[in-house]
Amino acid sequence: MHVQVLFPINAEAFTYLVPDELQSKIKTGIRVLAPFKKGKKVGIVVGFDKDPSVAVIARGQSPRSNLKTDEKIATHPSDARNDKNKLNDKKEITLKTIEAVLDEEPLIPENLLKLIKWTGQYYISTSGLALKNAVPSGIFEGKKSGKSRITYDDIRPVKILNLNSEQKKALSEITNVQSGAFLLHGVTGSGKTEVYLRAIEALGDKEAIVLVPEIALTAQIIDRFRSRFHEKVAFFHSGLSPGERISQWWKIRNGDVKVALGVRSAVFAPFKNLGLIVIDEEHEASYKQFEGLRYSARDVALARAKIEGIKIVLGSATPSMETFYHAKKGNIRYLELKHRIEQKPMPRVEIIDMTKEDKRALSYSNKLLSVLKENVSRGHQSLIMLNRRGYSPFLMCTDCGYTYKCPACSITLTYHKDTKTLNCHYCNSYLEPQDFCPECKGTKTKYIGIGTQRIEEELRALIPELSLKRMDRDTTKRKLAHYRIVKDMEEKKIDVLLGTQMVAKGHDFPDVTIAAVVFADVALNLPDFRSSERTFQLFTQLAGRAGRGDVAGEVYIQTYEPLHYVFDYVRNHDYEGFYKKEIELRKELSYPPFGKLIRIILSFKNKDSAANIIKDISKRIEKIIPPRPPLTKGGRGDYQVNTSDIEILGPAPAPIEKIRNYWRWHLILKGKNSKSLRHTALGILEITKDIKNIRVDVDVDPINLL
Ligand code: ADP
Ligand code: ZN
Repeated sequence: MHVQVLFPINAEAFTYLVPDELQSKIKTGIRVLAPFKKGKKVGIVVGFDKDPSVAVIARGQSPRSNLKTDEKIATHPSDARNDKNKLNDKKEITLKTIEAVLDEEPLIPENLLKLIKWTGQYYISTSGLALKNAVPSGIFEGKKSGKSRITYDDIRPVKILNLNSEQKKALSEITNVQSGAFLLHGVTGSGKTEVYLRAIEALGDKEAIVLVPEIALTAQIIDRFRSRFHEKVAFFHSGLSPGERISQWWKIRNGDVKVALGVRSAVFAPFKNLGLIVIDEEHEASYKQFEGLRYSARDVALARAKIEGIKIVLGSATPSMETFYHAKKGNIRYLELKHRIEQKPMPRVEIIDMTKEDKRALSYSNKLLSVLKENVSRGHQSLIMLNRRGYSPFLMCTDCGYTYKCPACSITLTYHKDTKTLNCHYCNSYLEPQDFCPECKGTKTKYIGIGTQRIEEELRALIPELSLKRMDRDTTKRKLAHYRIVKDMEEKKIDVLLGTQMVAKGHDFPDVTIAAVVFADVALNLPDFRSSERTFQLFTQLAGRAGRGDVAGEVYIQTYEPLHYVFDYVRNHDYEGFYKKEIELRKELSYPPFGKLIRIILSFKNKDSAANIIKDISKRIEKIIPPRPPLTKGGRGDYQVNTSDIEILGPAPAPIEKIRNYWRWHLILKGKNSKSLRHTALGILEITKDIKNIRVDVDVDPINLL
């Protein structure tokens, strides 16, 4: 008997022999101990057969063939790499033997295994890397689960709410079906979370996964779920220790939990009887993992819902262009909450033209200052956002114009006043500024531009009586820091909460009546086709924090570019208008949702040899494009590929040329037909396979093109 064993490493499954005495115990999904290289490893049985020839074919098959999607994957780069591990009649290979079976019952439910394979394939990665992302590493290391070190407040009693008619309608549409995808498009404060909670309650004995963006996973949302489901909620967030992660995982696996609430990896929660997946704020870029296995938790969730045959609800006040497009086309069912709870008005939005300001303060208009003062005197709270942390983004020599750059990355260093350091926001290294310019030895340096630390300092000086707190990545590094700020805000110990986009997301503070953006221009001008969309979403989310209680909200946006079209739609809370304009631009350029993108990033240690290798790669790409489908028999590649619509941009230097001492080049593949797009990507990967001194990263459906 042969088994395929998948390890949590960047590879596909390996084949092993099973000794007679273990054969009756082998099942798909159990853990086994197997010799690996010179040591031993714990892996998961993902397939087995008594007849070795069948076992080999089973490995070559696309695990997606039983999925009803329009994409089937013909081949996989890692198949070739594992050839030496494959049985055939020409080569005699001595297989190693499984040493022990570690579980009686499958540890990984069957559908989850399917999802793990799908993820590895779809992202042009490996099933093993997907397994590594899906299951806490301690599960393979036999580590004990850890006791939770996080202490939450006592559970508050549930306020019994009567759903309004919009909520009722949305809920009944969701509860009436067993499967399918929904977009719940509800303005900020329309009661989407309440709909999710009821939909989960209506599941009977089935279970649910709820994904929320990292910075929205706050005490507030945790409390809301705990007050409904008590101990039957498992949480996954970045503050968990490895031991806590394992114990949360086991709680789910043992059926002790009804809901898993988390950020990305919760999409792989090992439920056996899943009934619903909810993705709150589905448009959030943070659902995409930016390193290693570059998966989108939202898109993996959609795949999981299909595999499990269950329903999925994508919720947002500002749906992504992709999701709204599919809702319009009828691929996703559309549910709308047009009004805020209790018909509370949407906040009034005022755009402040900073070019017309007489500059009394560096970052604040006179209008905003007076509004903030007035708001405190009324006992209300305010939020201020600037989407840039640190004190100032440049430290410049005014004699020669020198600015400090990161030695490892092609990025200017941000000055942080609290630590008196120049920090790289890419690699986290830092320098201490010198007394004189490293270039011309001049002594006049100047802070150019503003960050959250600077607007905090400034506001403290301008309105000293304010109780002010800053919330950004620097002030929330320590465990529970974020939780405490939110608590203080709820308990009204803070008048003004100031920070990065962290202040804009998810919170429900009824006494916040003012929300402001200090320097809107930071977000507007990024070289990315999604920058308008992101700006619209961010400002709309921020506006959504104001006026959720009894007093109407007001929003102030300071900008040097007041005529930018985004502001018209933000001002009027006009999502549809924005969508209509933006979708035309996407169509013209064949960007998603009209075309798909795959980005291939090539990184080099040495700048000069990079240029040579790139030349060589370009030549070879020209030769294979348009690539022909491989003429193999059997399950692979037996379809026609049309490459006529594939556009290849590059190889060109990436906008951020160097990160962590690696010189970066990239290729962007764009096309309407995802089969031929994938095929082209595989062709290019094949070319790079035997080139030395190169690191290749593939990003399917990239969110970030820098
Ligand atoms: P969203 O997620 O759409 O921004 P929330 O679900 O956070 O909105 O709801 C906003 C506020 O309204 C919350 O404080 C919530 O408890 C409250 N709420 C939700 N539904 C109702 C309802 N039917 N009646 C009264 N209050 C409600
Ligand atoms: Zn750096």
